[in-house]
Amino acid sequence: MALKKLVAGNWKMHGTSAGLAEVTAISLAAETAGCDVALCLPATLIERAVRAAPGFAIGGQDCHAAGQGAHTGDISAAMLKDAGASLTIVGHSERREAHGEGDADVRAKAEAALAAGLSVILCVGESLDVREAGRAVEVVAAQVDASLPKTGTGSALAVAYEPIWAIGTGKVPSLAEIGEMHAALRGRLVEAYGEAGRGVRILYGGSVKAANAAEIFAVADVDGALVGGASLKAGDFLPIVAAAAH
Ligand code: PEP
Repeated sequence: MALKKLVAGNWKMHGTSAGLAEVTAISLAAETAGCDVALCLPATLIERAVRAAPGFAIGGQDCHAAGQGAHTGDISAAMLKDAGASLTIVGHSERREAHGEGDADVRAKAEAALAAGLSVILCVGESLDVREAGRAVEVVAAQVDASLPKTGTGSALAVAYEPIWAIGTGKVPSLAEIGEMHAALRGRLVEAYGEAGRGVRILYGGSVKAANAAEIFAVADVDGALVGGASLKAGDFLPIVAAAAH
């Protein structure tokens, strides 16, 4: 059974109030897109984006596993929810690498987000060394096994396969490599959640753009995309959304 696709943008540390016009343009097109669309924005923009685009899915890019406390600079899932977010990314490789987040941290964040009523996009992916050593499936399968929330199944959870070497580089795995990884991830999700694991969307992320989106979306078990650079402008992002709707 094909799942409704999700195309989510990750603005990373880009965007000020000037970017809200892009959010509005994307949200208006999303109303008739035929797939789910979301934008994960800098925390500073979330509340204004929700006001500018009512009913459109706005997300955070990370959350702390705790509900509150002495964690300077961090933001809790409940705070994201309070600001109007409906989802958050957890476990992005830029968080894992730059902030030393491990699988147990990512699992705790995912569980906290789900408990706060947010949907979750949980990222996994291998380094170039691992890919070249022929260990990508083994390593990413172990990563997802250790990161998956114990509580989350169905449409509230999506897993994003994002090879680290493909993020922001213009490099993309072959369609066969994407298919092999997504099939392996589907297997891990069914192992973890039983039949409900078939309802968890598996997104591909890493240098998705208008020119390659349609062929990637045609791969089995690719249920959408997590898009970085090409999500900042409606003119770049909406053709990817359109490709997902076919
Ligand atoms: C990302 O960082 O999640 C990502 C997929 O980035 P890009 O599309 O720019 O490769």
